[in-house]
Amino acid sequence: MGERYPRLEINLAHLKHNVATIVEKCGSQGVQVMGVIKGANGLPEVAKTFDEGGVAMIASSRLEQIEDAINAGIEKPMVMIRIPMLSEVEDVIRLTDMSLNSELEVIKALNAEARRQGKLHKVILMAEMGDLREGYWDHEELIEVAEYIENKLINIQLAGIGTNVGCYGAILPTVDKLEELVELAEKVEQRLGRELEYIAGGATSSLMRIWDGNIPKRVNLLRVGEGILLSRDMEVFYNYDVSEICRDVFRLKAEVIEVKDKPTYPIGTIAVDAFGHTPVYVDRGIRRRALIAVGKVDYGAPEDLLPMEEGIEVLGASSDHTIIDVEDAARDFKVGDIMTFDVCYATLVYLTSSRNVRIVCV
Ligand SMILES: *Cc1c(COP(=O)(O)O)cnc(C)c1O
Repeated sequence: MGERYPRLEINLAHLKHNVATIVEKCGSQGVQVMGVIKGANGLPEVAKTFDEGGVAMIASSRLEQIEDAINAGIEKPMVMIRIPMLSEVEDVIRLTDMSLNSELEVIKALNAEARRQGKLHKVILMAEMGDLREGYWDHEELIEVAEYIENKLINIQLAGIGTNVGCYGAILPTVDKLEELVELAEKVEQRLGRELEYIAGGATSSLMRIWDGNIPKRVNLLRVGEGILLSRDMEVFYNYDVSEICRDVFRLKAEVIEVKDKPTYPIGTIAVDAFGHTPVYVDRGIRRRALIAVGKVDYGAPEDLLPMEEGIEVLGASSDHTIIDVEDAARDFKVGDIMTFDVCYATLVYLTSSRNVRIVCV
C-alpha cells in the first residue's frame, strides 16, 4: 500500500524555527514563553518540538495532552491553563507544576491534594480584564485570595497573576489593558510585601505588543499557541508582518474520489442537509466538480479549508465528503489525485483529533 489519505503533514523543522523565533523575540523583551500545545491536540511530536525550540514551559488546557508530553520525555515545567475542574485536582497535582485559577474552593482542594502528594504547586490567579471568560472581575477579591494563599495555604505558592484576552469577548491586549494588569499585580505585591514571579499578559494576540516593542516592562510571561503553530491571526486579522514565521507548518492532503460535470443547483425539493441546515445554492449551470474523501468530522467547517491551488472552490461538505468546484482549476483533476489545503486554528484542532487523518511529520 502507498501513502494513505487524508493526511496532515507537519513540517517539524519549520515549527522549530517558529518556536525559536518567538522565544527569541519575546526573550529580547524580557518575556518568557509558555508553549501552548492544545492547538495541535498536544501531539507529542509538536510538544517535543516546542521543547527543543526553547519554550520555558509546556502548557495545555487538557491534562491528557500534558500526560502525553511527560510520557514523551519532556522535562520542562507543565502548566494547566484551563481553570481546573474539582474532579481533576488529583491529576493536576500529579501532572503539572502550575495552574491558572479563579476559584478559591479549587485552590484549597489543590492545596489539600498537593499536601497529600508531598508537592508544592504554583498558581497564577486570573484577573478578568473585560474579555469575559475566566478570572476575577472583582479585583479586590483577587487580592484577598492572594493574601489567603500566601498566609494560609502551605502547599500552594502564588506565582503571579495573569489575564486572558482575545478569546470570548475578542478584546485586544492594548498597552492600557496590560498596564492595568501590572497595576493590579503591584497592588497584590504591596499587600504581600514581596515581588510576584510572573505577570502573565495573555496569549498569541499579545504578541502584537512584542512586535510593536511596547509590552509593559513588568509583563514577563506569555502563553503562545497559534502564533507559533500558524501565525495566521497576526497577519490576517491584525495586519502584522510575520514574514519571520514559517506559515507552512501544517498541510492537509486529501484524495479525489469522484470527478464529474454536474448541475450546481440541487434537483428536487430542498429540505435539510446532513447536519439539519437548509443551505442556499446558486445556480451556475453545469460545472466540473470533484469529491474528496475528507469531511466535516475531520476538519469542522468546510469554509475554513484553504485550497493551495488557484481556481479551486470548496462548495460544501457532509461528514465524510467534501465537494470542490474545479471548473476553473489549472489542472485536469482525476480520481486518485491529491488536493492540498492550508489550515486555520479550528481546522487544526479537528484534524489532529480525527482518527481518520494520518499525522505525518516531514
Ligand atoms: C488556548 C489558550 C492560550 C493560547 O492561545 P493562542 O491564541 O493559541 O496563543 C493561552 N491561554 C489560555 C488560558 C488558553 O486557554
